[in-house]
Amino acid sequence: MYRLQNISKRYKTRGHEVVALEIDDLQIASGESVAVVGPSGSGKTTLLSLLGGMLTPSSGEIWLDDQPLSRQSPTALAQLRCERIGFVFQTFNLVPYLTALENVQVPLALAGFASSEQAARAEKLLERVGLADRQHHKPSELSTGQQQRVALARTLANQPSVILADEPTGNLDPESRQQVLDFLAELHREGRTLIVVTHDPHVAQRTQRQILLNNGRIAGGESAATKAA
Ligand code: ADP
Ligand code: MG
Repeated sequence: MYRLQNISKRYKTRGHEVVALEIDDLQIASGESVAVVGPSGSGKTTLLSLLGGMLTPSSGEIWLDDQPLSRQSPTALAQLRCERIGFVFQTFNLVPYLTALENVQVPLALAGFASSEQAARAEKLLERVGLADRQHHKPSELSTGQQQRVALARTLANQPSVILADEPTGNLDPESRQQVLDFLAELHREGRTLIVVTHDPHVAQRTQRQILLNNGRIAGGESAATKAA
């Protein structure tokens, strides 16, 4: 599980300081699904980047299970991301000159799998997202919905226990959006922690808890348990 204590993140630009995020206390349980909502500039992406260890807080500490993230070396953080955390972005971040299969193989290569094993695993993952017949297509030869599913297959390659998604449905048509949502729900049912930044009320409704950010602070939250009461 995640525990954040007295976190702040400040950005300095041209001598001017912006407080992007200030969170006194936040816990996210293992296996929980959480939506992070709030207006543009409220600190959502900053929060996700801190949880993924891509940014370090200006003050305070974030623990993932018993590991304090700010006390890990960059190498240890990279390894943690590789082994435990899966990222899904609005812009997919696929490598344009690699095929779908090769894109999914990238994290497997980084994890040290032999190339035959990489290909076999990547094929299974593409099958799982319904793209068995598009393995050898490059991103430009796929629809945006298909590109997002390749990105999801790549995210799953290392069996991450935590999935961090930033506006995963932002660029998609309704049908692809539904597929991605169903897929994220399935990943959560498998026991993974799902933290999703979203503007989309349908996405937020499907999570167990919503965290509302405003101006870098938690302005409100509602859990499924509170709603039911
Ligand atoms: P959101 O994802 O909710 O739109 P962000 O986390 O991206 O918000 O940004 C929160 C605040 O921090 C905003 O005021 C934004 O302008 C500022 N900010 C984000 N990234 C940087 C950066 N790299 N340098 C300076 N300011 C930044
Ligand atoms: Mg953002």
